[in-house]
Amino acid sequence: MQRILPFLHYPNMERRYFAENEAIGVMLSLPKPLAMVQSMALPRKPSNPKLRNKFRGCLLGGGVGDALGAPVEFLHLEEIEQVYGKQGIRDYAPAYGKIGAITDDTQMTLFTAEAMLAAEVDSTQVRSGLDFFRAGSDSYQRWLATQEHAGRPGGPREMSSWLFSQRRLFARRSPGTTCLSSLEALRGKSGRASNDSKGCGAVMRSAPVGMYFAHQLRNQSSRLAAITKTFETARDLASITHGHPTGSLTAGVFAVVVGMLLVDEPLAEAIDAAKGELHKHIFYKETLYAIERAEKLAKSCPRERDALRELGKAFVAEEALAISLYCALCSEDFAEGILLAVNHSGDSSATGSMTGNLLGATCGLEGIPEKWLKPLELRDVIEAVADDLAAYPEWRLTGAEDAAEREFYRKRYPI
Ligand SMILES: [Mg+2]
Repeated sequence: MQRILPFLHYPNMERRYFAENEAIGVMLSLPKPLAMVQSMALPRKPSNPKLRNKFRGCLLGGGVGDALGAPVEFLHLEEIEQVYGKQGIRDYAPAYGKIGAITDDTQMTLFTAEAMLAAEVDSTQVRSGLDFFRAGSDSYQRWLATQEHAGRPGGPREMSSWLFSQRRLFARRSPGTTCLSSLEALRGKSGRASNDSKGCGAVMRSAPVGMYFAHQLRNQSSRLAAITKTFETARDLASITHGHPTGSLTAGVFAVVVGMLLVDEPLAEAIDAAKGELHKHIFYKETLYAIERAEKLAKSCPRERDALRELGKAFVAEEALAISLYCALCSEDFAEGILLAVNHSGDSSATGSMTGNLLGATCGLEGIPEKWLKPLELRDVIEAVADDLAAYPEWRLTGAEDAAEREFYRKRYPI
């Protein structure tokens, strides 16, 4: 499909926008020699292939884990074993009428990514700086609209964004009731949840916060400040839907761990960095206790379903965090960890998704079996968002000559 979009007027340039298979590109037809140096394709692809590989691994790994967990999300382990045998579920099985279906975990993760990038674009146009909270409030309202208009893609025009235009996101995949009710209560205004929930609905969507800040975590001299910023941003975005401290502190921990993995820190050290930040907050004990149990069990009882049982069912945030850390800590590769993460009696899509984020950030895209990537629902969109999170420092948004690129990203990630 090709469509021509409206364009800015520059007297000496003829420009043509086109969209193909929802990957939007820009072709410039410029007078030579300008055409030689200014031709570009938008969205920009990350110039660093290793970075691109890890970012894609992180986000697609989460999608794969979510899709593997989807068919067994509401089954007890005994029921999983009855249906799939003693080994448990080992491959995609039908869920929501298809193979490779993602659930609310991946949907909301994508809208978290949208919020981070919308705040980035907005910060280049206003003087007030990065407003992740406002962007998060907007993006999560868009996700709410996809749930309210499920099966009827479109939604309110004022909510338009590139992600919101993806028709396949207008599907209800067992959305968390806390997320739905808190966003309904906040409709039309920006604020924090007034509930006392520590459900896993906030921590499971927080990987993109770590991905966004990974670029700053790379710099050793400012790493400590970047860790603090990562933690606080994830905690703030979590507080839009979850009012209990553990519901949002776990999100801070998870985002820091993801970010540190993306800059090649070993998982044990990434967890230590997150614990150091966690200690600064009151009400940290519940989250810290869960992390430490996961670390101990990964050493004393690795790769065991009994250990998962001890860690809980993952319906609450600290249990989801503990199970995903445990699975990532004691697994030798992506497939082993992800299959461990989905075979238990609790929220298999949350633990599959979070473990997939962690293992995918570690092993990169190449570590994820192609047989799971190929049928993954929304693979193209997840990959495009991962590329945007990897490439945004290369976006040119501020110069007088950057008007076309600025307009492109402003429409793609509006605030
Ligand atoms: Mg789910």
